[in-house]
Amino acid sequence: MAKPVELEGPPMAQRSAAQVVPAPEVATATAAGPPATTKRGGPYGPYSMLPIESFVDWRDSCNASLRDATWLFRTIGTCGFTVLPVEILLTALTAFVLLIYGGSDITYSLNSAIFLGLVFFLAPRNSIVTVATGVSFERLIKYHQWAAYLMVIPMTLHGLDNDLFTDWSDSTQITGNALYITYLTILTLSLPPIRRRLFEGFYVTHVMLAAAMVVLGALHAGTVIGVSAVALVLLAIDFAWRWVIAHQLVLSKMCVSAVALVLLAINFAWRWVITHQAATIVGVRCMGGNSATELSVSFNNDVTRKSWRYESGQYSWICVPRASSWQWHPISISSAPAETLKNGVITFHILSMGKGKWSDRIQQVQPGDSIRLSGPHGVCSVTYEHASQLVLAGGGIGITPMMSTLSQLVALAEANPVKPCGQLVALAEADSDYPCGQLRRVHLIWVLREWQTIGFFEDTFQRIQRLRTAAAGNKDLFEFAVSIYLTKTSGAAADWLGEVPPSVHSDIKQGRPKWSDIMADEKNATLPVLRASSTAPHKRISVLVCGPALLMSAVTGSAERCSTKVVRFQVHQESFLL
Ligand SMILES: Cc1cc2nc3c(=O)[nH]c(=O)nc-3n(C[C@H](O)[C@H](O)[C@H](O)COP(=O)(O)OP(=O)(O)OC[C@H]3O[C@@H](n4cnc5c(N)ncnc54)[C@H](O)[C@@H]3O)c2cc1C
Repeated sequence: MAKPVELEGPPMAQRSAAQVVPAPEVATATAAGPPATTKRGGPYGPYSMLPIESFVDWRDSCNASLRDATWLFRTIGTCGFTVLPVEILLTALTAFVLLIYGGSDITYSLNSAIFLGLVFFLAPRNSIVTVATGVSFERLIKYHQWAAYLMVIPMTLHGLDNDLFTDWSDSTQITGNALYITYLTILTLSLPPIRRRLFEGFYVTHVMLAAAMVVLGALHAGTVIGVSAVALVLLAIDFAWRWVIAHQLVLSKMCVSAVALVLLAINFAWRWVITHQAATIVGVRCMGGNSATELSVSFNNDVTRKSWRYESGQYSWICVPRASSWQWHPISISSAPAETLKNGVITFHILSMGKGKWSDRIQQVQPGDSIRLSGPHGVCSVTYEHASQLVLAGGGIGITPMMSTLSQLVALAEANPVKPCGQLVALAEADSDYPCGQLRRVHLIWVLREWQTIGFFEDTFQRIQRLRTAAAGNKDLFEFAVSIYLTKTSGAAADWLGEVPPSVHSDIKQGRPKWSDIMADEKNATLPVLRASSTAPHKRISVLVCGPALLMSAVTGSAERCSTKVVRFQVHQESFLL
């Protein structure tokens, strides 16, 4: 079977009958197989997708019989014109529009609007007029031009009746004057000497000025757009179709982007749903000479409270309307998931970044104020449940995610003092590389300038104190160690120690930590599980660190230097800088 021939020239169906010269290839293809088609989905642009074949056949036969049957058309045909009967009708329509003059301003203005509509109606390259009449674009555009030139008559008459360019008093006058100027500019730029020499420039300005006329027309009088509405919709279809055809590659990319956009929309919708749950600030504490604030937050409804599950070390974006209705800031959750499960309260600790800043205005919040939470976010890159030891190192406010983790372990140890991570032991033991992998010791190291904010975490330190007292002499129990380094607190400890929670008195040191010594001590720590098992050659030490960049790199460097094949350090850095 012969293959259909694909034509690159003007589509066959768009040529008038008089223009068609039967080409042998086309005839063969039509006889032997499917009709010739263009590569771009049919000769009528977007309208090719409609079931118009039989209508087109009927239209062509009407055109042919009219031409044959009518003296006028026969005469024009023999004179060598290639005018279709419908073109005569279009000419008559244009003339009719021109003739609707009653000598009054109302008819001038209405007539201007009708002309504008006609101009737009005849502008599309993929025109419904082509479908209806068989007259193709390059012929239709002549009518577009005639209508546009003729429009000067009703527009000028309408303008002269309404103080054109002499009255700028109200918006109707201003937009009317602007419309006339825009129209004259389009008209001038469309004159053949300019249009033919600078077609690209003409085309771009033509489209832009036409769009300006639509806007000005809408502002000038509703009739303008009312009359042109259908024509503008058809023009929009034409532009959209041309864009689609010209950007097929872009379109496929857009499909991919559309999927991404849908996912993004789902993300936003999800965040909106999650964040617009009503939560209330149930407690506010300021410490450190008002340099830091603790917020205790509770969701108002039970469903959210149960569904808003977080893991220790995660953070949430928070919006506190009293400080700012539109600002969202990432803040680590400092409470433990186990505690939140019990009391329904989530805590945040926020350090003021300076007078007037959002983090400073937070101090003005009152219990009962509303707060919105988006999250939880953040994933810890080390699974410390598989490790033997955990080092939590926090610098300044970087202690918050560490306190969440520490408090969680405290809560678990209170429930099971031998294996706080009891529920995770099965997992850890399945890890054959590290047969002794179950957490037995945690060491919190907090480096801060002054002692004033230690009190925020008094409750956790007290509970650790109680666990340590209970474990005294029993080496098989879980070990908690706390070291607090005060780098800027000078003077005798006796002057300020009374202000610090007693549970940490023995853990406080003045000065900077020596990270290499701390890591070496952790490496050499002998744990109950190691003592008990002679077949346990390895141990893994997880290190979580958060704070200033210098502190994080010092901790990471020391841990890496201490790491050996037998004792492996794994570090997770948490940064507060996005
Ligand atoms: C994952 C994470 C957890 C954090 N946890 C805590 C915490 O528990 N406690 C705490 O006090 N601080 C925390 N921060 C830092 C806190 O977000 C900023 O200190 C706070 O946003 C400062 O805002 P500001 O306008 O008061 O100060 P600014 O002086 O305006 O900002 C100081 C710095 O904070 C960052 N920042 C400011 N505004 C935003 C914002 N809207 N979104 C993201 N970053 C911003 C910028 O890096 C900026 O340079 C955390 C940051 C991150 C990324």
